[in-house]
Amino acid sequence: MSLRQTIDFMLYDWLRVEQLCDRPRHAEHSRETFDAVMDLSQKLADEQFAPYNRLVDVQEPEFDGERVHLPVETANAMNAFRDSGLMAAAMDAEVGGMQLPTVVDMASRSYFCKASIGMSGYLMLNRGNANTILSHGTPKQIEVFAKPAFEGRTFGTMCLSEPQAGSSLSDIATKAVPDVTGSDHGLPAWQEDPLGPRFRLTGNKMWISGGEHEMGENIVHLVLAKIPDETGKTIAGVKGISLFIVPRKLVEADGRITDVRNDVSLAGLNHKCGFRGTVNTLLNFGEGRFKVRGQAGAVGYLIGQQGQGLKAMFTLMNEARIGVGLGATMLGYAGFETSLDYAKQRPQGRPMTAVGKDAASPQIAIIEHADVKRMLMAQKAITEGGLALALICASLVDDEQTGTPETQANASLLLELLTPIAKSWPSEWALEANSLAIQVLGGYGYTRDFPVEQYWRDNRLNMIHEGTHGIQGLDLLGRKVVMNGGQALAVLGARITQTIEKAAQVEGLAAHAQALGKALNKIAQSTQAAWSTGKPDEALANATPYLQAFGHTVLAWIWLELAVAAQGVKVGGKRASDEAFLQGKLAACDYFFNFELPRIDAWLGVVSRRDMTCAQAQADWF
Ligand SMILES: Cc1cc2nc3c(=O)[nH]c(=O)nc-3n(C[C@H](O)[C@H](O)[C@H](O)COP(=O)(O)OP(=O)(O)OC[C@H]3O[C@@H](n4cnc5c(N)ncnc54)[C@H](O)[C@@H]3O)c2cc1C
Repeated sequence: MSLRQTIDFMLYDWLRVEQLCDRPRHAEHSRETFDAVMDLSQKLADEQFAPYNRLVDVQEPEFDGERVHLPVETANAMNAFRDSGLMAAAMDAEVGGMQLPTVVDMASRSYFCKASIGMSGYLMLNRGNANTILSHGTPKQIEVFAKPAFEGRTFGTMCLSEPQAGSSLSDIATKAVPDVTGSDHGLPAWQEDPLGPRFRLTGNKMWISGGEHEMGENIVHLVLAKIPDETGKTIAGVKGISLFIVPRKLVEADGRITDVRNDVSLAGLNHKCGFRGTVNTLLNFGEGRFKVRGQAGAVGYLIGQQGQGLKAMFTLMNEARIGVGLGATMLGYAGFETSLDYAKQRPQGRPMTAVGKDAASPQIAIIEHADVKRMLMAQKAITEGGLALALICASLVDDEQTGTPETQANASLLLELLTPIAKSWPSEWALEANSLAIQVLGGYGYTRDFPVEQYWRDNRLNMIHEGTHGIQGLDLLGRKVVMNGGQALAVLGARITQTIEKAAQVEGLAAHAQALGKALNKIAQSTQAAWSTGKPDEALANATPYLQAFGHTVLAWIWLELAVAAQGVKVGGKRASDEAFLQGKLAACDYFFNFELPRIDAWLGVVSRRDMTCAQAQADWF
């Protein structure tokens, strides 16, 4: 069973993406062009990324005090990707894009994430960075900073975190003050710079992925900072945060990239557990190492409105969160493929039947053992379910952009609600899938002779960055399910109910449809129970178990959708040769409903009771 077969099933049999070609934005496309993009992605990922995934782990980035050294294979892969034109695949033609539906672009990205998540990190960041400039920048900023990124010529970062401010971004301390040095040097006044109001930034940014390297022509940092008032004070909280474009090398108003370094210097690299293919940095802004016009302070251009920086950055973060989910899923998928292959090859043990009692009888492959099948089925259900989750979120982005007014509104609400799930569910469960892959390989899985341990290490990041798991739970229960009087939850409930009604009519799926209906009710009841006292500390005391139960319910919905689609293909008799493939989808759906969905009761129990066991434990009890 290949990934391609699963992607084709999801795109064409489930989501019916050819229908998107009826929308004017995608009119130039067809199934043929979509297939060509998949072929290209698969080939590029197989040839330029996958062969070097181990190398970028072993040869982690090095800083010699002056320069960062990466394996040359990373730059080669970036150049090959640039030449493919895929960086702007889903973008408008006017910024050099192909106007591909986001859902097809997401499927294309899955190949690169699976091949090498560390190398793909640069692509994800660059795309999100350029998209943010596209959404919030002036035409000039788009021309000068976003277009070269979409062409794959420059790279981008997101600089939010600081050593003392990770989850709590309202506490960032980086400051931006008007750059008044320009007028002495023949530059326009700071407010009138064609690239945007010009500031000088000072501060330290921690954990910045892709923060320093010499690939491409430039690095464009998107930096959150606070603008002090006349008394030098900054506004506390998120309202005081603004967003700035800070290029590594200064750029002329006509877009020409100069050789003049901006005052952004690398303080050091972080040496990570995994995900080593993406360099991770501590950056000092404005410390005076690269003085500009004789003065310390990194030159930055305000993007969007002053004080609206975090809001603008959410364009990047929401996109990045779905990207993180896809990356986690594909790491899980890579482990699934490896362990499946291994389980078919490895002879160990004998059947539990009478035949197996004969010690002289031949051993069987471990895939014949029920427990190994359990571990493989869990990986299949998690990773294929996670892929479907990323694709449905991407199709919601398409509906948001090009659907009818009603579908647009509903898509926006659903996307807001599902983003914490799209990020956190694969981060938690595809990591578990990686752990199961190690288990399937036994002792060999625990060595560096097989890639499964690297997949686990790479994946361990995903519950931490882009908003930790705990923060995603708070976002879901504290904000998303209650926003606009629970409107988004109601829209999701209606979508799930449609699936339940459809599935109730399909052979073999009625019991699952009923179970999903019950799960949906339990989510609604526990949401209400959590908030029944109106006290946030009680409601949110168990936000992470709520996130887990919500995620499992969403995934049960997705598996029921996939099972309905698989039965549809079976009954349609279109591809008799795919019997085993379709049976596999139905079995994974059965697995999810029989083994996974029942777990929500324990999670929702503590939520509904507003259990304070953990919340009320005193620090000195530990
Ligand atoms: C490899 C890597 C790459 C990264 N890349 C980038 C990047 O490119 N750009 C960027 O800006 N940042 C990046 N980050 C930073 C990342 O987003 C932060 O690590 C993350 O936001 C958590 O912040 P922290 O590490 O300071 O942990 P903390 O915020 O200190 O959290 C520690 C623990 O406390 C919990 N916690 C904190 N506050 C609360 C609360 N209010 N309620 C409940 N629990 C809470 C958290 O859930 C977590 O479990 C990266 C991090 C890593 C490790």
